[in-house]
Amino acid sequence: STMPPLLAAIANAGRRGVLAKSAVVMERLGRIDTVALDKTGTLTEGTPYVTDLCPLPGSGLDETALLALAASAEHPSEHPLARAVVAAARERGLPLSDVEGFTSTPGQGVTATVDGHAVIVGAPARLLDDAAHGPHREVAAGLEEAGRTAVVVLRDGVPVGVLGVADRLRPDAAATVAALTRLTGRTPILLTGDNERAAKRLAAEVGITEVRAGLLPQDKVAAVKEWEARERRVLVVGDGVNDAPALAAAHCGIAMGKAGSDLALETADAVVVRDELAAIPSVVQLSRTARRLVI
Ligand code: ADP
Ligand code: MG
Repeated sequence: STMPPLLAAIANAGRRGVLAKSAVVMERLGRIDTVALDKTGTLTEGTPYVTDLCPLPGSGLDETALLALAASAEHPSEHPLARAVVAAARERGLPLSDVEGFTSTPGQGVTATVDGHAVIVGAPARLLDDAAHGPHREVAAGLEEAGRTAVVVLRDGVPVGVLGVADRLRPDAAATVAALTRLTGRTPILLTGDNERAAKRLAAEVGITEVRAGLLPQDKVAAVKEWEARERRVLVVGDGVNDAPALAAAHCGIAMGKAGSDLALETADAVVVRDELAAIPSVVQLSRTARRLVI
């Protein structure tokens, strides 16, 4: 006997580099009409690197001390930005301090006690009072204007420096956006926790027009629910802990396997096992064909 079409579709999807967790997933994937893509780690390679080290005047820190402080606090985090900061410190052979009381807030940043100081590292828009003016604002805005992610470092509540981080676009990002647009008749939407300036810049490069930036994990869920309330069936593609709630809320969720967080991989309906974004439209097409054979 031949394999039932949806099971055959799972096997075919696997050959194309997408592991679907059940036959039902292939069925659901065949119905999606809207795609929401995460930025960091999804449209980008997810291996960002530190480009700028900007200690603030009056902090008493030089570039090296700023980097060592940030890397010590980021060390326990699995966030791609944290890995970039730690990698930059390692490259320079900087010793990292042990930390206490590490906490991580998805879409926001980390806190830890480093050498007796309360250190916070993360998104400027989230960590700093909007009313707070100062050199850190200008430095962060300048970096964001250049398409970078600005990471602010606070020591005992005072901004002491800003790091600039950049990430490479995946080589197949634009082609994937084009293929998903053809398949669904709608241009995918970018959902990101990152800043609007960097997000819009990257969106323009891949052919995305609708951008929702500065989102917390629950804001990504709210966006999905908003579309689903309008009878849309949304495919969410993401990689981070911050994407997990949206992956769960969507009609279908796909996680990027290589650099993806454990939580995203566990929550998603399917996982891109080879690091190719272009496998996604290919598998959407496949699942549609399989559905037609079943019905
Ligand atoms: P995305 O949706 O693009 O994958 P995230 O939601 O993971 O981004 O992060 C949103 C923003 O929160 C980042 O751009 C960064 O500014 C900040 N952030 C989150 N985690 C960290 C961290 N560990 N270190 C520094 N900044 C962080
Ligand atoms: Mg991400």
